[in-house]
Amino acid sequence: MGKHRAGPYILEFCRGRHCACPSPLLRERWESLVDLKLYNTLTKSKEVFEPINSEKVRIYSCGPTVYKNATIGNMRTNIFQDVLRRVLKYNGYKIKHAMNITDVGHLVSDGDEGEDKMLKSAREEHKSPMQIAEYYTKLFLDDLKDLNIETPEIICKATDHIKEMLEYVEKLVENGYAYETTNTVYFDVSKLDKYPILTNAEVENQKAGARVDIDPEKRNPYDFALWIKAPENHLMKWDSPWGPSYPGWHIECSAMGQKYLGEQFDIHTGGIDLIPTHHENEIAQSKGRCGKIPARYWMHGEYLLINGGKMSKSLGNVYLVKDIKEKGYEPVVYKLFSYSCHYRNKLNFTWEGMEAASKSLERLRNSYQINLNGSDELTKEDKEKLSKIEENFHEAINDDLNMPLAMSYVWEAAKFEKKNLEVAKLLEKFDTVLGIKIDKVNSEKEEIPEEIMQIVEQRKEARKNKDFAKSDELRDELIKRGYTVKDTKEEMIVEKC
Ligand code: AMP
Ligand code: ZN
Repeated sequence: MGKHRAGPYILEFCRGRHCACPSPLLRERWESLVDLKLYNTLTKSKEVFEPINSEKVRIYSCGPTVYKNATIGNMRTNIFQDVLRRVLKYNGYKIKHAMNITDVGHLVSDGDEGEDKMLKSAREEHKSPMQIAEYYTKLFLDDLKDLNIETPEIICKATDHIKEMLEYVEKLVENGYAYETTNTVYFDVSKLDKYPILTNAEVENQKAGARVDIDPEKRNPYDFALWIKAPENHLMKWDSPWGPSYPGWHIECSAMGQKYLGEQFDIHTGGIDLIPTHHENEIAQSKGRCGKIPARYWMHGEYLLINGGKMSKSLGNVYLVKDIKEKGYEPVVYKLFSYSCHYRNKLNFTWEGMEAASKSLERLRNSYQINLNGSDELTKEDKEKLSKIEENFHEAINDDLNMPLAMSYVWEAAKFEKKNLEVAKLLEKFDTVLGIKIDKVNSEKEEIPEEIMQIVEQRKEARKNKDFAKSDELRDELIKRGYTVKDTKEEMIVEKC
């Protein structure tokens, strides 16, 4: 670390955790402030984050299977990952973040059964798997942009990495962790010292309740497919030592993670549903290949519920970012809505909640604009209060990305009684984590009647002529008629009260 990154008020100097700070007192304060703690599913505890290489934090996120539209549930996971990125940057880290696009091998069951999701979708939509992948990848990336989610440095497609996946599996065979059956190359979980390790259950205990396996050639019920031999008319298949075939779902993340981030990197993220299957198996693969758990911190986001229950097509409650836009909301409203809940708790989506978040966004942006032009003097005491708000915000985000708590400090700043540019700057700084475009000027939602606009124009003229008494009189007139008026640097914003 070692960058100038705190401020505007506190700790004007560089104080990385390992930096020789000029004052032990300041260093102590800094250390208590900047300790970034993250909940690690691997150890089931909140841990102080220590990167492998303090210059650059390496993160891998399991991306979408691009066979259908991403829902706002999927987007909740992406928002959590975005907050993680932004918090790391707030703490002065540089980031190398890889996210995969699954365009082959993810079977309908999430296990080793059923049709490939891509092929099913291609059949249903009368398109080629490639067309399906291209179409839904673009929509997914558009959604990220709409939500002001930062694009990971590396976006890698499974089908572009067949060679790396094949090499990985061959190495597993060579190391004695994989075996071939009539239809499949399986990973042998009994060769590991411990499986699973993210979940508590012992394999022996799990065996009793394990689902019935359809492949009697599997040595252990929890062995999973590394490579699958393709039936004659299978659309997506590649030459391999086992004939025309295609990769299993888990191998892509192991192969691409290793290629872009190395054998061991810092953080691996995904939705909570990935813990017992995909992530457990990624760990198994990596241990079989190089004896290492691929990431030191495993972070998982909880589910989004709709009206207290699951999002499902049959209930007609599957919402997309597109639906949010069609209801007239800017997509970042959903982002702000999601900050009402910690990423490790279930969040219940309601349109009432969205309406409240929309009003909140408007108020935050108003506050920013007012402060941008504010000329209230700040006393020493005011500055100390702002400094404390900033410190509290930093502590909240560093406490395992506690966004609900962090938002309470954002509001403290937004409602600060003195209106001053420094408050706007602080809100701007907070927005590097929130990513809600706080500096955007609120748009007028309703058509303003002609006679109101005439008064607004007269007021503009009065202000131009520096006739402030007249300007105030006209503002009172607008209020009497049910309109508020805000003066920003560039424009006069008129809104219905
Ligand atoms: P799917 O498209 O269903 O395979 O989901 C892709 C990923 O998005 C899943 O692995 C989850 O991690 C995440 N996800 C799916 N549904 C939700 C949800 N309702 N809330 C949060 N994350 C979800
Ligand atoms: Zn993955």
